[in-house]
Amino acid sequence: MSNIVELKKVALNLHTERKYDKEIEIFDSKSRIKVFLLHAILILTLIIFSVLNNPLYLIPLFIIVNGFFSIAYLRVFMHSEMHWGLSENKLVKFYLRWIVFGLYQVPFTAYVFGHRAHHRYDNDCPESNQLSSDKQSTYLYENSGKPINPVLWMLHYLFIYQFFHQIKYVITDGKKKDFIKLVLQIIVIICMDIAIFNINKIFFIYVFVPSILVSWLGSGIVLYMMHNIEHQKAKVHHSVNSYDNFFNKFGDNDGLHIVHSLFPFLHPIHAPEIDKLVYLELDEKQKLKEHYVIAFFKNVLNFKK
Ligand SMILES: [Zn+2]
Repeated sequence: MSNIVELKKVALNLHTERKYDKEIEIFDSKSRIKVFLLHAILILTLIIFSVLNNPLYLIPLFIIVNGFFSIAYLRVFMHSEMHWGLSENKLVKFYLRWIVFGLYQVPFTAYVFGHRAHHRYDNDCPESNQLSSDKQSTYLYENSGKPINPVLWMLHYLFIYQFFHQIKYVITDGKKKDFIKLVLQIIVIICMDIAIFNINKIFFIYVFVPSILVSWLGSGIVLYMMHNIEHQKAKVHHSVNSYDNFFNKFGDNDGLHIVHSLFPFLHPIHAPEIDKLVYLELDEKQKLKEHYVIAFFKNVLNFKK
């Protein structure tokens, strides 16, 4: 079904249909438990490392656990919380937005404004001699419709978009209370980092900081690969899906990015249904069987036969 108007009707029907409410609540409660689990794993690695008196042999293992999983997947759930919310409970909201997501080192309010801007301009392809309106677009300044170099894009996204553009959006588009939230969230993040540093300096330097960098790299690769398609060759929408089972099952169907780009309002519980309607029309390059990170190393670095 390539007719976007018809597709939107289906998506809106699913969105407004109240019979899915219970199913959605169960789905969201599982996501809340997953976030708690990620947080618990990170704290557990700190406790184990400290109790065993900083064994160096655990450093690589704990960087893998935290960098590839417990910190990395926080980005997926920040995204869920931003779009549809994981809980109505104010205390849980506070815990998610101010505490656990802060461990990813990006203030939640900044992420919200930055991600809204991303959807507003929808990874746009710029006119000649111009920058894209979406400042995290993979076509950034490439009007030919080809995604820019991944390393360049990741450096731009991780260090300029996350910490300059996103914060700028809060200041220019937000209200005074958003700015206050942003400042307070930055203070909370710094306090949490100082606390971890004081609990165990070796863990902070050799496990926590490298894990954050690994998780950012992973997120950078995932976000790049979600939009790694030549604009003119893309069908239905200029984004890319990953059908990796674990990534979608654990990560709120984050791999069905074409559906999400078309209908950001739609809860991920409905994404597979819309995906079925567009799957056959997609270009092969938009249907990755593997996790985005695996596909990145296979495709972009030309490891694929
Ligand atoms: Zn989104």
